[in-house]
Amino acid sequence: MTAKIAILAGDFIGPEIIHEAVRVLKCLQKHFGLNVELEHADVGGAAYDKSGNPLPEATLEICKSADSILFGAVGGPQYEALERDLRPEQALLRLRTERELFANLRPATLFPQLTNTSSLKPEVVSGLDIMIVRELTGGIYFGQPRGFRTLENGERESFNTLVYSEHEVRRIAHTAFQVALKRKRKVCSVDKANVLEVSELWRQIMIEVSKEYPEVELSHMYVDNAAMQLVKWPKQFDVIVTDNLFGDILSDTAAMLTGSIGMLPTASLDKNGKGLYEPIHGSAPDISATGVANPLATILSVAMMLRYSLNEAEMATQIEQAVSDVLDLGMRTQDIADGGSYVSTRNIGDAVVNILKSR
Ligand code: NAD
Repeated sequence: MTAKIAILAGDFIGPEIIHEAVRVLKCLQKHFGLNVELEHADVGGAAYDKSGNPLPEATLEICKSADSILFGAVGGPQYEALERDLRPEQALLRLRTERELFANLRPATLFPQLTNTSSLKPEVVSGLDIMIVRELTGGIYFGQPRGFRTLENGERESFNTLVYSEHEVRRIAHTAFQVALKRKRKVCSVDKANVLEVSELWRQIMIEVSKEYPEVELSHMYVDNAAMQLVKWPKQFDVIVTDNLFGDILSDTAAMLTGSIGMLPTASLDKNGKGLYEPIHGSAPDISATGVANPLATILSVAMMLRYSLNEAEMATQIEQAVSDVLDLGMRTQDIADGGSYVSTRNIGDAVVNILKSR
């Protein structure tokens, strides 16, 4: 069956990096028999400029019927003064809600060729390969009630609610265990069960779900310790599963272990494993139209899409291997050149496509 992929380029470097990722997809279509249909749609500031809406209905419809969404990046200084609802970033939030993308997969993978881009010692990070599975649509960011109030004595107070229902924990647990089955079969559930009731239930449910995955080893860690362990000896982890707030913080920490924002993809999945794939970085207005943007995070997002939504693990590996080969050739964009010479966005895209074609 033909899988439908919505392509949403967005703003500034968004179209530049998406262009290279689409060339990779087309190469797989032509040379590897990948059965996909690509449909482009406006999003973010580019969509707002045309229609006054960062996520036009037509785009939303395309995304709802797509098997996967490949998203570039949105936003820019000219949109910052807009009302919150009209800002480009709202498109992404709305897509997550509309498609019920509750599972955020954030790999922190360090290609051995780039060990020097990390601020940590080479022996600590070399060969790093962690997957953080973050719950994305629940927890304290969405819990009700929330707000501000003034007490009788006139003092101001503010409050948020941390709440998780059983089904929300159960479904993210399943995602984590299923992801672990495709990796080294280890899940570490991160919580704060020594202090929070929500974490107590979280831990209980993780243990219950783990019984359905006897091949996967489950461990638990408090979040403060997990933050320490991530910078002390990150290679002890395979899959980390955690809630929305802890995941937000830990996934950025893990990303920085690799040193480069231009190399990391991310996926947000629904209960059927369909989802939205994008680089973790933003639209980088500061380097737009200079030809220096690193397209590899977006190209690696395509690999994630193939592995997690399209069941094409072999093609995913081919892309990852091609990226590794490009790095072996010494080709670098500015962000990963460590002060040395660098090539353009287009050169990197050409190299990945040529290596794939030669296979
Ligand atoms: P950013 O990620 O766009 O850029 C941070 C720094 O990293 C910049 O110096 C940039 O040049 C560099 N960088 C980012 N991607 C790169 C790449 N592929 N290759 C080389 N260098 C790269 O973050 P920011 O500057 O804080 O935000 C810029 C805009 O992007 C804002 O409008 C922000 O709201 C938006 N944003 C969007 C998303 C998204 O679409 N998912 C995510 C984060 C930020």
